[in-house]
Amino acid sequence: MSSKFLGSVRLHAPYHPSIVIKLDKLDFRIDSPCGAKNENKIYLLTHFHFDHVRSCMAGGADFLSLSENPIKIYAPYDDRKEYGEVENVFDIHSKMINFHSKARRKLVPIKEGEELRFNGTTVVPVPLKHTVPNFGYYIKNSEISIFVTGDWEGSDYKNRQKIISLMPNVLITECRYFFEDEIEIAEERMHVHIEDVLELKEELENTIIILTHISHRYRDLEDIIKITKEKELILAKNISFNNTGYRIRERFK
Ligand SMILES: [Zn+2]
Ligand SMILES: [Zn+2]
Repeated sequence: MSSKFLGSVRLHAPYHPSIVIKLDKLDFRIDSPCGAKNENKIYLLTHFHFDHVRSCMAGGADFLSLSENPIKIYAPYDDRKEYGEVENVFDIHSKMINFHSKARRKLVPIKEGEELRFNGTTVVPVPLKHTVPNFGYYIKNSEISIFVTGDWEGSDYKNRQKIISLMPNVLITECRYFFEDEIEIAEERMHVHIEDVLELKEELENTIIILTHISHRYRDLEDIIKITKEKELILAKNISFNNTGYRIRERFK
């Protein structure tokens, strides 16, 4: 890596949805636990599937938090009402998170077309089709752009076109499945197969592509890491990057 360091991505585990991006003195924590010190941390939730919700509810340090204001977690405004519920999906989770954190955390709705600004960095929610409403987040400053997908239907043409049109310097994408006999199941469950990522890669020649949130069925990580290396994709715990290259700081064991 020749030019200066711009940021890093840290994953909790290859199976886990949590993603932490350090960029220009800010921490973007996507589907990630809250800690005690929350200055310069921005919390984003991609969608209301329980693995993601649970991850952002984790972290027991709320009660130690000395900040006066509750921690904001930005989340898609999901107005579905299901199973005879009176309240919508967003409000149900809003109450749950408020309750479990003793009002130390609060969900803040964001909608398509809105844009968040933090100093010189903007965050744009980008809807990607999944089994429930899901936002990918496009994070951009004057030096670099990063796109985090959340969960998405990899075989969906519109989804792929959206990602390609963003042309991010760094793409962090869910990649659930890796083997040929799993292409169907990926489609059925509206998740991503490595073949979908490889199709993106053809169009995004200069993008650094980081995979995450792989299936729990892969107990032997060695095979998966070998495949990603062969395909020039990245699966690692901690990766630093600039707008043209990257370095792996820590691998998954
Ligand atoms: Zn998920
Ligand atoms: Zn999901």
